[in-house]
Amino acid sequence: MQVSEFHLTAYSTALFSTWIFIEELGLLFDAGDGLSAGLLQKARKVKYVFVSHADRDHLAGLLQFQQLNGRADGPLIHYPADSGSFPALEAFSQRFDPHIRGEAWRGIRSGDALPIRDRITVDALRNDHITAPVEWAKSLSYRVWHKKWKLRREYLDLPGSEIKDLIAQRGRAAVSEEVATLMVGYSGDTPVEDYGRWDGAKLLIHEATFVRKEDQDRARNNRHSSLEEVLRMAAEIKIDQLVLSHFSSRYSAEEIDTTIRRYGREFRVTCPVYRLLPGQIHRDVLREEPVWSL
Ligand SMILES: [Zn+2]
Repeated sequence: MQVSEFHLTAYSTALFSTWIFIEELGLLFDAGDGLSAGLLQKARKVKYVFVSHADRDHLAGLLQFQQLNGRADGPLIHYPADSGSFPALEAFSQRFDPHIRGEAWRGIRSGDALPIRDRITVDALRNDHITAPVEWAKSLSYRVWHKKWKLRREYLDLPGSEIKDLIAQRGRAAVSEEVATLMVGYSGDTPVEDYGRWDGAKLLIHEATFVRKEDQDRARNNRHSSLEEVLRMAAEIKIDQLVLSHFSSRYSAEEIDTTIRRYGREFRVTCPVYRLLPGQIHRDVLREEPVWSL
């Protein structure tokens, strides 16, 4: 499964709505307003929903999404376990639309890892968007991991037939080890925190609410990332592709793109950078022309 071939349909504008769908994984990150109207029939392909936090721009699309797509085998909606908004919405949805079958909502915590298909797992990480005690799950980032078997170093030079025999005799674990690749990282809403959580990502989708640093400085209790911080991080760690999301609608497409290129050059960002422009649905993000690439 090549991450660069993923089809992403996405909308993300700070304050208004965010939803990002990765078709090949049947995976939807966040469920803001306009989700069903934007995805149309494609919404049938959503199997797993992971909502990052309870701000309304990340969950307001859930009622209509469930009413159109709820069925016996899914979709499964995951949310931060200590957010009271989700159980309230679940209870309302069940009263409002009692015909929905198999409605399934699941609270998750930082460190939880959930298998979504064979050898692919999604884990949750606490982030600092909402001030809360560390043990509370109020705002989460998500990561998609792909586990593969890799031949142990000492067997690398052995011919294939001998490796086959060894596996037959001693089992796969004796000859190979499991290696987890970080396929996709999704920041949700968050300030830039420890770089290490995204290092090695084939694809990172990170919020970049503030294009101008002074706007971030002015909004001190607004716990979001600035474009400068995200691109500085992207230059320091290894990422194959970066998608920037959650821009404030105060910025024009031109200002966003010009600033991405300026920092891309200044920090020597080596991965291609895509962006979700305010007010626009992007229907195949990774097939667009990257705004920045070396
Ligand atoms: Zn938001």
